[in-house]
Amino acid sequence: MDRKQAIVIGAGVGGLAMGIRLQSLGFDTTIVEKLDAPGGRAYVRRMEGFTFDMGPTVITVPHFIEELFSLERDCADLTSADFPAEIVDESKRVTSGVSGGPNTSRYVKIVPILPFYRIYFDDGTFFDYDGDHEHTREQIQCLGEPGDLEGYEKFHAQSKAIFERGFLELGYTHFGRVGDMLKVAPDLLRLDAVRNLFRFSSRYFKSDKLRQVFTFEPLLVGGNPLSVPAIYAMIHFVEKTWGIHFAMGGTGALVQGFVKKFEDLGGRILYNTEVKKINVTQQGGKKLATGITLGDGAVMPADLVVSNGDWANTYSKLIDSKYRFWNSDLRVKLTQQSMSVFVIYFGFRADGRETEKLRHHTIILGPRYEGLLKDIFGRKVLAQDFSQYLHLPSLTDPSLAPPGHHAAYTLLPVPNNRSGLDWTQVGDRLRDTVFTFLEERGYLPNLRERLVCHSYITPDYFENTLNSYVGNAFGPEPLLVQSAFFRPHNRSEDIANLYLVGAGTQPGAGTPSVMMSAKMTARLIAADFAIDPAVVSGQARPELSYR
Ligand SMILES: Cc1cc2nc3c(=O)[nH]c(=O)nc-3n(C[C@H](O)[C@H](O)[C@H](O)COP(=O)(O)OP(=O)(O)OC[C@H]3O[C@@H](n4cnc5c(N)ncnc54)[C@H](O)[C@@H]3O)c2cc1C
Repeated sequence: MDRKQAIVIGAGVGGLAMGIRLQSLGFDTTIVEKLDAPGGRAYVRRMEGFTFDMGPTVITVPHFIEELFSLERDCADLTSADFPAEIVDESKRVTSGVSGGPNTSRYVKIVPILPFYRIYFDDGTFFDYDGDHEHTREQIQCLGEPGDLEGYEKFHAQSKAIFERGFLELGYTHFGRVGDMLKVAPDLLRLDAVRNLFRFSSRYFKSDKLRQVFTFEPLLVGGNPLSVPAIYAMIHFVEKTWGIHFAMGGTGALVQGFVKKFEDLGGRILYNTEVKKINVTQQGGKKLATGITLGDGAVMPADLVVSNGDWANTYSKLIDSKYRFWNSDLRVKLTQQSMSVFVIYFGFRADGRETEKLRHHTIILGPRYEGLLKDIFGRKVLAQDFSQYLHLPSLTDPSLAPPGHHAAYTLLPVPNNRSGLDWTQVGDRLRDTVFTFLEERGYLPNLRERLVCHSYITPDYFENTLNSYVGNAFGPEPLLVQSAFFRPHNRSEDIANLYLVGAGTQPGAGTPSVMMSAKMTARLIAADFAIDPAVVSGQARPELSYR
């Protein structure tokens, strides 16, 4: 069989999911990755016997993972249901044992995490969010103000409606034409999903603490709660419905599972190979992607190219501007890029008291919420105060650290490199301030005496190592005017046989979204290459509904 050749630029979660899908569509796929190992933002850093996931740690929607692990060669399965209906009922959420499906379990072990998050406020009080309705109500009663309990019920009902329409029904819609967007606009207006999330939740909660609890989640995908549309209230519901999970061995183990699955399907990955150019030819009135050129000048021809690299970087650095109209340099310049992050990875000796205050996922909010968000996203300055997300995975999987030790990271949202900050000057100081904070507030007493190793990344890592425009950590910022049709398209509007996948494109950032984007791009490719998904999917696959 003469198979068509596909190239995927980048071995992030999106690139690997794309590779698996292309193999299942019947292409011969090569993934070309700049770094020496897969993962992209989910790269793994190892130091002195400690294993650190550098990026994503919160795994949601495990059936997306199961779906990828269940694909077969020449069996695209693009026609089956996107969501297994029977687990939308939250009472069926997995809360103990193993939460990956049978196909997942062949590659990686995934377990549920409870609580989802512990969220500390600056006065030391906290909220354990675990998706349990009654427990949530009890805590609202303690922390909230009069009326907040009724407000929660309304918030819950409204975000459920948004989840059902925005995620279950429209989640996989590729908005390639303005008409696609106009069709859904009335619904989104009716659901109040276009108002900004913070204002949306402020309608239901009087308490500042609860406004924070029910709006911080979009920060995990680069969204500013003050400007992200309320459609992002669905994240709350996605977590509540399917839970929060962790791959034993770390997210890196999940990435390795995807690599193995891709290779099992016959795909190949080239590491340490940076793509310098996407080759385009003009055929009649049509511009056509024909392959890629590497740093050493070698040309790799292909029938189609998919970029998993940063959207702005892909167009502005890899493709000659004469081939671009919709994705012009001006558009790249005018697009608001998401925030960046400062992440400290550290291994330390345990004192056995970690669980007194910390959980697997702990959010430690600072004294300011709205002011800090304005500093990060609007003014683009590094504030004196900060909020952080502390990840302590060795509480769940001790194998990530030597015996008697813990592996942790703490992540601070910071402005992207449009700030003009010189991170070589501020990085060490910020790290020290964070360590002092964790010690003095009792989260990790005497931490510095117990430290074994540490290192950090700044927006420069995203800009220089991951090729992300102005050091963004999550692609274009999820603003209303940069969503759906206005978000970069998965099928290039400028060049035939060129596609995009991953955080910078539709539907957006976050590991579930980039897996969705791979399926959306696969559907576009199947249509363009006249591959009948019903023919290639062929067989009945009951095991997809894994529960
Ligand atoms: C610190 C952090 C924490 C996060 N936490 C979570 C979380 O808990 N849960 C969650 O769901 N999401 C989380 N996210 C978001 C999530 O990690 C990302 O949205 C997602 O992993 C992006 O995947 P991707 O495949 O689109 O891109 P990437 O992971 O960035 O992959 C792109 C790849 O392309 C390669 N590349 C770029 N240019 C070239 C080139 N020219 N030639 C060859 N290769 C190239 C890069 O090296 C990289 O490997 C987090 C992100 C960060 C930064």
